[in-house]
Amino acid sequence: MSAPKPIPYLLDVAPYVGGESGIVGVDRVIKLAANEGAFGPSAKTIEAITKAAGEFHRYPDGDFTALRTALAEKHNLPIENLICGSGSDELISLLCRAYVQPGEEILISAHGFAMYPIYGKTVGASIVAAPEQNITTDVDALLERVTDKTKICFIAVPNNPTGTYIPASEIKRLRENLRDDILLVVDMAYAEYVNLDDYSPGAEFVSGSDNVVMLRTFSKMFGMGGMRLGWGYCPEGVIDVLNRLRSPFNVSYPSQAAGIAALQDDEFVQMSREHNDKWLNWTTETLRDMGITVPDSVCNFILARFSEECGRNVNAEAADEFLKSKGIIVRRMGGYGLPDALRITIGLEDEMHAVADALNEFMRD
Ligand SMILES: *Cc1c(COP(=O)(O)O)cnc(C)c1O
Repeated sequence: MSAPKPIPYLLDVAPYVGGESGIVGVDRVIKLAANEGAFGPSAKTIEAITKAAGEFHRYPDGDFTALRTALAEKHNLPIENLICGSGSDELISLLCRAYVQPGEEILISAHGFAMYPIYGKTVGASIVAAPEQNITTDVDALLERVTDKTKICFIAVPNNPTGTYIPASEIKRLRENLRDDILLVVDMAYAEYVNLDDYSPGAEFVSGSDNVVMLRTFSKMFGMGGMRLGWGYCPEGVIDVLNRLRSPFNVSYPSQAAGIAALQDDEFVQMSREHNDKWLNWTTETLRDMGITVPDSVCNFILARFSEECGRNVNAEAADEFLKSKGIIVRRMGGYGLPDALRITIGLEDEMHAVADALNEFMRD
């Protein structure tokens, strides 16, 4: 007897491993492993979901009209160029399915977001990774690796897990030097956290183009990872193809309601950003003072690198074990080619003190 055989290249896909959510034997954990917004969802979002609860028997609006209207108004974008997904992950997956055939190539940065190679491999793509400079996306290195088979180039700005970004001028240079038939996907999952003059969330590169897509998510600052809601600003042709490919009801009723409420809560966004600025800076400086290498991040997480310069017998695995013994969950980075690093999300004040105290103890031992 032979069992049904899946498409062969699917068996080369390593399933995504998310951040751990618990520690055996520890009741109250501090979870700083998945870049979830420090404050969770805003009160207004919770209220909207509670209100939507009585309507669960209704199918959601398959065109997300109210949500797209809210997004269009908030970001001053044309509503017909917006699409929503079950997390921006779903949109990454749909773009791979729509534009890449087996044997074709997807171009990414060496420490790019893990879902690009995962979804890329599900469609049989070859993943081409360009080396980085100072763990930052290198536009020249990407351009040098373009071939006849390149179909999509994915970049996250700022990038997860490095926390670094490239300025708008570099995104522009990348687009101008990529062939027109290559789709450039700019994934701006952390845009809400960045407030720098030379940063652009990328909408300007989509406007008037046929080949740039901007992706956004409600999973990070808006604290809605569990709701699964992301969106994209895309050229007309891309919207058309994604609408053919997606499930008709890919975003649930409560997710749509929550997204609309979250967009209206400017105060929450402002408060979250100020909190992040303060504790990102504090955590970076505090860990550096301990001798841990921390690259400049503009996101709601940092990389803590336990390199040889630390001068002693410390490494990321031992640090992770020590943190776990204190009930603190962060993220190992071996899967991203950064085995000397842990990624630590910026959480609440007492959580950042707890992680700093634990690391201080670890580094002194
Ligand atoms: C978290 C993250 C996403 C995915 O978020 P969803 O929860 O699927 O919306 C996409 N890109 C990057 C770079 C991320 O860090």
